[in-house]
Amino acid sequence: MLDLTVIPSTGATLPEVRVNRHWINGAFAPEEAAGWTERVSPSHGVAVSRSQRGTAEDAEAAIAAARAAFDDGRWSGLSGKARATVLLKVAELIEANVDRMALIETLESGKPITQARGEVSGAADLWRYAASLARTLHGDSHNSLGQDMLAVVLKEPIGVVSIITPWNFPFWILSQKLPFALAAGCTCVVKPSELTPSTTVILGELLAEAGLPAGVVNIVLGYGQPVGATLASDPRVDMVTFTGSTAVGKGIAAAASGTLKKVALELGGKNPQVIFPDADLEGAADAVVFGVYFNTGQCCNSGSRIILHEDIAEAFTARVVELSKQVAFGDPLDPATQVGAIVTPEHGAKIDAHVSAARKAGARVEIGGAGLAVPGLGAQFYQPTVVTNVTPDMAIAREEVFGPVLTVLNFRTLDEALTLVNDADYGLSAGVWSENVHTCLSFARGAQAGTVWTNTWMDGFPEVTFGGVKQSGLGREIGRFGLDEFMEIKSLVMRIGRTRA
Ligand code: NAD
Repeated sequence: MLDLTVIPSTGATLPEVRVNRHWINGAFAPEEAAGWTERVSPSHGVAVSRSQRGTAEDAEAAIAAARAAFDDGRWSGLSGKARATVLLKVAELIEANVDRMALIETLESGKPITQARGEVSGAADLWRYAASLARTLHGDSHNSLGQDMLAVVLKEPIGVVSIITPWNFPFWILSQKLPFALAAGCTCVVKPSELTPSTTVILGELLAEAGLPAGVVNIVLGYGQPVGATLASDPRVDMVTFTGSTAVGKGIAAAASGTLKKVALELGGKNPQVIFPDADLEGAADAVVFGVYFNTGQCCNSGSRIILHEDIAEAFTARVVELSKQVAFGDPLDPATQVGAIVTPEHGAKIDAHVSAARKAGARVEIGGAGLAVPGLGAQFYQPTVVTNVTPDMAIAREEVFGPVLTVLNFRTLDEALTLVNDADYGLSAGVWSENVHTCLSFARGAQAGTVWTNTWMDGFPEVTFGGVKQSGLGREIGRFGLDEFMEIKSLVMRIGRTRA
């Protein structure tokens, strides 16, 4: 372990090891705990945080608090204006805390500090947007049922929501869910990843400061078993919303099925970008390089599969390889770094196993293909990697690698490209690059994906709903449709005037 108190690249002092405790019913849990988990920074090798390791009883206490807070109407009974006031205050507090939240997130996850800052400040905007929705919730009415009848469709908060999040964008993904659930009037229990819990716990402090009533949000720290599993199966929970791997998502859906609670899942992807010869090829190459190395490739939306028209395949690949050499990777605390560390040694080994298996199957590694020790830091880094000579049946073309690894396939016609795009278990996002609007629109119609980007990649907005089809997920997040997921619909049918004899 390195003995670092001063970060070499920035001269800043490392924070003290942060202690994270459960936050239940408006209070942090006492120091005593059944166990603690220490998080060591994947890039700097120093202890960053110690977090309580929750038990099933801790999860149950949090659920009980959320249930009581929902049932007595202390939050759902407030006006949209009152809820929006709290959410706006939270947004302000997040903005005031960007630096400390980004620093701890970088140290826990290994992501570049500039990306952590962007994630936290971008998340504040999700809270702001959700506040605007809290004031505009509305249902529907039926005015054509005859003179003596009227029906209205009410939207009501679904109730208690369990929120289970991953390590790759801990604060962003939490903010894709929590403010929308709160805007709808729900109460929540949150379980962050055991690898990156700190920004979620800091949020607990900010929620209290913003005046959120006790019990409306509760945070339980720990592992999938037993904490996550309890949040997914407990009958007092009305909905579970999960972001993470497809395998765990299927387990959550099974655990939730005992009580038929609503399930929303944001899962993995193997996202294709199709590039036609008439595209802005330099812009496309930049976007490909950004799309595959952003967050060190540990990104559900990673554009990890490019599908190139055969006329441009060789030259475009050469350009992507050249740009890959220029990617600044190294110390995540250096503001110039674009590619940081891999989250755990086990995950690094998994990435390497994917690339080795592709080599054995006949693929060619054009650049990268191995881990790398960054001088002065640990060895938990993986080189930007481009793999060609790939066939659609190879595992590297089908499975989520979740690292800085790009797979290249070729096509001749739009139909062929769409066949390759849709020959996948996943359907999170897809992209097309062409100057021809008909090509872009035909692609968008034919691609099986929750989001289609044309001549751009990974642009997102709080207003624009996001989610996956096929094994990339169930349900939608953010935007107006994302808020609807946290609401139940009730029809109210009324007779007007006296019942006639
Ligand atoms: P993961 O599935 O291992 O863990 C996610 C969360 O689930 C963690 O909090 C974990 O503790 C918890 N968990 C684990 N086992 C559980 C169980 N049995 N019951 C309940 N909870 C359990 O995922 P990860 O490694 O943290 O994240 C990477 C994955 O997330 C990738 O597959 C990625 O594609 C996916 N992801 C998807 C999106 C999206 O929006 N579609 C966004 C980000 C990440």
